[in-house]
Amino acid sequence: MIRQRIDSLQVWLFENLRRHEGVGHFVSTRVGGHSSSPYDSLNLSFNVGDTPENVRKNRERLVEAIGIPLNCVTTAKQIHDAHVKVVSKGLRGRGSVDYDGAINGTDAMVTNVPNTCLVILLADCVPLLFYDPLKEVIGVAHAGWKGTLGFIAQATIKTLLEHFGSSTQDIFVGIGPSVGPCCYQVGQEVVSQIEQVFGTKQHLVINRSADGKGYLDLWEANLKQLLDAGIPEENIETARTCTCHHPNVFFSYRHEKGKTGRFGAGIFIR
Ligand SMILES: [Zn+2]
Repeated sequence: MIRQRIDSLQVWLFENLRRHEGVGHFVSTRVGGHSSSPYDSLNLSFNVGDTPENVRKNRERLVEAIGIPLNCVTTAKQIHDAHVKVVSKGLRGRGSVDYDGAINGTDAMVTNVPNTCLVILLADCVPLLFYDPLKEVIGVAHAGWKGTLGFIAQATIKTLLEHFGSSTQDIFVGIGPSVGPCCYQVGQEVVSQIEQVFGTKQHLVINRSADGKGYLDLWEANLKQLLDAGIPEENIETARTCTCHHPNVFFSYRHEKGKTGRFGAGIFIR
């Protein structure tokens, strides 16, 4: 990924998506917004206790920097599930200025409607951005350990294939900043679920301790899913940046012990 400064903001961009003129995208940071601690400062979530006025101002600042109108921003009420929502024109802008308006209960969205910016909100979970330049369709997914175990990456790909006729070799994917295997210690309970689903040979859990805890590699788990689905390795870019290791750049639920804001990952067809 590359970092770009736009006025007071810092956004991160995937090089594999940036090459395509037909699509715009961003991964925002916590830098350059209006909110005060613990949401300082570019918190984009209406659902974490920040004042709605500040969140609206932060979103306005971000979309202005990106060059899109706020009313095309489309968000969802994320529930750590693996459901994929096909976003029609009528859903464009849902949740752009409040939480209640956001699309109900989904952690992944796909669309072929131009000027519809699909945005997911994050503080440690993995953002996935999808783009098929041939069929001109995009997708986003929010993959924490539950979504990853639920194969949300593959569910999103499947929807692009079945609903829009995409071919796997044409799809580009960005795996964004999230809590990394350096910091993401999980308990025995999660470890055994991961090993049940992925097996023990994938080395998705490292540095196991005697009490059964281990460090989960969400990047590798999602990368593996994408490769297994048939996405060419050269089409996938992984940020390999740990949010918990960079708490001044990204909101990190782990680092801030639960009380923090959310940054966003968004994509739109121009
Ligand atoms: Zn880390």
